[in-house]
Amino acid sequence: MPITTGRPYLAIPGPSVSPERVLSAMHRTAPNIYEGEIVDITRGIVTDLKRVALTRQHVAIYIANGHGVWEAANCNMFSRGDKALLAATGRFGHGWAQAATAMGVTVEMIDFGKSRPADPQAIANALLADTAHEIRAVLVTHVDTASSARNDLKAIRAAIDSTEHPALLAVDAIASLGCDELRMDDWGLDVVVGASQKGLMLPPGLGFIWFSDKALEVSRRADLVTPYWDWKPRGLGAEFWQYFGGTAPTHHLYGLRESLTMILDEEGLEQVWDRHARLARSVWAAFDAWGQGSSGIALNVADPVSRGHSVTAATMPNGAAGALRRWLEAEAGVTLGIGLGMALPNEPAYQDFLRVGHMGHVNAHMTLGVLATMEAGLQALGITHGAGAVEAAAGAFARA
Ligand SMILES: *Cc1c(COP(=O)(O)O)cnc(C)c1O
Repeated sequence: MPITTGRPYLAIPGPSVSPERVLSAMHRTAPNIYEGEIVDITRGIVTDLKRVALTRQHVAIYIANGHGVWEAANCNMFSRGDKALLAATGRFGHGWAQAATAMGVTVEMIDFGKSRPADPQAIANALLADTAHEIRAVLVTHVDTASSARNDLKAIRAAIDSTEHPALLAVDAIASLGCDELRMDDWGLDVVVGASQKGLMLPPGLGFIWFSDKALEVSRRADLVTPYWDWKPRGLGAEFWQYFGGTAPTHHLYGLRESLTMILDEEGLEQVWDRHARLARSVWAAFDAWGQGSSGIALNVADPVSRGHSVTAATMPNGAAGALRRWLEAEAGVTLGIGLGMALPNEPAYQDFLRVGHMGHVNAHMTLGVLATMEAGLQALGITHGAGAVEAAAGAFARA
């Protein structure tokens, strides 16, 4: 009898855990896609998607993952030869930049490294240097899932405004939407991209782009746009099929209806943010305790204000992170995230990083359970670590 018998837990930063209610809502026969229930619930889904991003502007739904909506955002914002300014704070900004470059956009990158947020003033300086206003958009990752660094979007907006540069502010909120506070309209975000498999608690398969009136105007001149990825019919279409560029993603819509109800009408968006913040503080407390003494265990982002609330990246030296991940999967049924973008998979340092996902449908017994299981693994493997991590994590949660 394997020791892992019991419910397995994928504690990686997406796909996140889907509530049984969401999965049950999807477990049904396909509906009529021309009229009736699915058409009716889509209207409410569009309204609620705007509520989850706190916008009164536009949203487009795509049958795609995050990479798909990066590309969709690019083709709606840019013409061939346009410039973009990208602030990289880990791994995911580089991915968005690669897609844009391959599409014929000239990307100016400011790389802020892998353990701190973007400096808004550096973004402003780059815009001030662009006196011809060739930069069409500033691309920023809200929470970089590889580094767990979180950017201050309000400060970045203020820095852009201080330059009077007309560039759009486009944000990858795939890891933060439904986890960290995000206010599209209040914060002046023009484009926000999201995906179903993280804070929205669905299986992978849907991508979303929220876009402002200003971004809509820019998109009317963008020559990279192709019919399937065009956000205009998806966001403003007169007929139901136009929302999806073809057959609706029927089952995902039923799941999404359920998850949006849970987030917005049952728990409440601000309570969802608070829950993620509280669980994040528990995770940080455990790592701070493990890092005492000479263990070398450390969180990737030193300043708590600049850490995302849905994922924690950390280092455990001398291959300890890799060994711990393998132990947890083999002995405890818990899968932790690999250290993404910190080293190449064939380099020894690759085994020195891991990530803990605490995103979406998670509560204290799940997150504290992962931390206690990690403590067991550290003990079993004889990995040097500071004492008292589980107690510190429990205490952080208890303090609310
Ligand atoms: C997960 C993630 C992506 C990539 O999404 P895929 O669905 O894997 O294509 C992009 N950006 C961020 C911030 C993410 O967390």
